[in-house]
Amino acid sequence: MEFRCLDECSQCCIEREYYPTKKFGKIGVLILPDEKKRMEKLAKENNLEIKILPRIGVSEDRNSTPTKILGYQMMGIEKNGNTCPFLDTKSGIKSPHNGFPCKIYNDRPLACRTYPLIDSDPITLDEKCKFCKEHKTADENLNSEMESLLRIKEQMNTQYPSIWRFATEIGEMEDSHQFESGWFLEE
Ligand code: SF4
Ligand code: SF4
Repeated sequence: MEFRCLDECSQCCIEREYYPTKKFGKIGVLILPDEKKRMEKLAKENNLEIKILPRIGVSEDRNSTPTKILGYQMMGIEKNGNTCPFLDTKSGIKSPHNGFPCKIYNDRPLACRTYPLIDSDPITLDEKCKFCKEHKTADENLNSEMESLLRIKEQMNTQYPSIWRFATEIGEMEDSHQFESGWFLEE
C-alpha cells in the first residue's frame, strides 16, 4: 500500500509526545546540529520566535556533562509543548492534503521529511501517525522518507561511550510533578 497523508490531518505537526517517559517532558522536532542555524534564520524571516533546546548529547566520561550535542529539538509554541511554530494554523491556506500547511515546507528539517518512518528494514511506521492507525503500514511512496532517515542515522551515529538525554520540563500541567530538567545519562 502507498503511504499518503490522510485528508485534513496535521497531527504530527501539532501533537508532541513524552519521550521516553514523562520525566523527560515532551520532545520537540528533532533538529540536527547543521540545521539549527538554518531554522533560526527561517524563524527570523517568518517573524517567528522559536525555542530550540538540546536533545541528545555525548561525552567520553560518564561523570561529566555532554561535550558534544548530536541533536537539538524545536519546541512547540503552546504551554503544553504542542504545535510547531512553523505550522500555519491561521491564514486559512491548506496543504496539498487539506491540512494546515508548513510555512517552511521546502526547507523543513530532516525529521519532518522522515516521519512517519521510524525504521526501514523492515519498514516500520510510527503507530501514532493517523495513516498508521487506519492502515497499519505501507510499502510504497516512502523513498524520500527512507533517504532522510538514512541521513539522520548517519549524523546521529556516535563512537562516544556516554550518551545523554535532555529533559525539557515541558508538557501538560497535570503531569508537571513528574518533570525533571537538564541532562540525564542513558543507562
Ligand atoms: S504523517 Fe501521519 S500524522 Fe502526519 S499528517 Fe500525515 S497522516 Fe497525519
Ligand atoms: S517544520 Fe513544518 S513539517 Fe516540520 S513539524 Fe513544523 S510545521 Fe510540521
